[in-house]
Amino acid sequence: MTQNLQEIIHAWDGESVVVAYDRPTATWMFIALHDTRLGPASGGTRMKVYPTPADGLVDALRLAEGMTYKWAGVGMPFGGGKAVLAIPDELGAKDREGLLDRYAARLASLRGAFQTGVDLGTTPEDMARVGAISGHAVGVMDGHSADPGPHTALGVFVGMRAALDHRFGAETFVGRSVLIQGVGDVGLPLAELVSQAGATLYLSDIDESAANTAAERFGATVVPPGELWNIDADVYAPCAIGATLNPDTIPLLRCAIVAGSANNQLLSPTDADALRDRGILYAPDYVINAGGAVAVGHIHLGERDPSRLRAEVEKIEGSLREIFAAAEASGESPLATAQRRAQRFLAERA
Ligand code: NAD
Repeated sequence: MTQNLQEIIHAWDGESVVVAYDRPTATWMFIALHDTRLGPASGGTRMKVYPTPADGLVDALRLAEGMTYKWAGVGMPFGGGKAVLAIPDELGAKDREGLLDRYAARLASLRGAFQTGVDLGTTPEDMARVGAISGHAVGVMDGHSADPGPHTALGVFVGMRAALDHRFGAETFVGRSVLIQGVGDVGLPLAELVSQAGATLYLSDIDESAANTAAERFGATVVPPGELWNIDADVYAPCAIGATLNPDTIPLLRCAIVAGSANNQLLSPTDADALRDRGILYAPDYVINAGGAVAVGHIHLGERDPSRLRAEVEKIEGSLREIFAAAEASGESPLATAQRRAQRFLAERA
């Protein structure tokens, strides 16, 4: 396996990776620093059970690269980084706290080269704990760590509005339908915003009771996961897992727009071309889901005013409008346009 980890790291184009093994919990820690030209690496800490440690490493490297583009896409002074704590099994409270404390000590030893926040499997409370020990958690206000979920949902909502306007020539949600996959930290507040805006709402989640509760609250229709592709909806909002857009699913899509929060929604970048060829408008994931990062980043830079934080997140709408217009004018996919914009920003500011 050592060889395997080495090969994976060698094949990556990032700057450095910290690999550590936490013996008391049999957890592999991977801290990936992808590109620090814009500033110190900043990204969430993911805690998850992976089939093998190598899968955790691959996730860390891929996500760190995504953070490079996310920060460049919103023009913020941070570099791309991500940490993965590849736990062998779900941990009890005591083991979890011990692991977080030892992880925080490891972060402290990096002296600010990596600063971190909440991601899949970690909570604002976890990050407050990590921040208290390491001094390098982002988005901590008055000892509390900000929950990025609602900010991410706001970014997706305004991004969806830009997409509706671009695709249908009207930004209203009234008379439109939206299918949200995953009603978690992002999907739930997004469902609230979309239902308040007057759209017909479909909700799907592998957690049946979460889907039912949310559907009752927002007057939505529940879609069993197996029937996701049978629904006609103007917008498909993937807010659960990655790679739901791939050569198998793209021909089945019955939507005009894909606009959701999930990271790595495409199995491969060429899927963006397949969506364009089908006339489906794709909002690049790392642009539309940047709201949480934007809010947490601005808190880290000293912003405390909720309305100004909100205004920063809402800038995602303008960015997407520009990306959609430029992509249409050039005939390329919105993903290709977004990549070029981010690359240009990286080159200019580096
Ligand atoms: P979460 O864990 O709070 O919620 C995910 C929901 O999706 C859960 O309710 C889960 O039951 C459901 N789910 C899991 N697998 C599913 C499947 N196959 N089909 C349907 N439902 C499924 O996660 P979250 O924080 O809401 O994040 C959702 C997505 O958005 C993730 O891909 C995450 O990486 C991405 N994202 C989140 C944020 C944020 O601020 N939380 C920011 C950027 C990107």
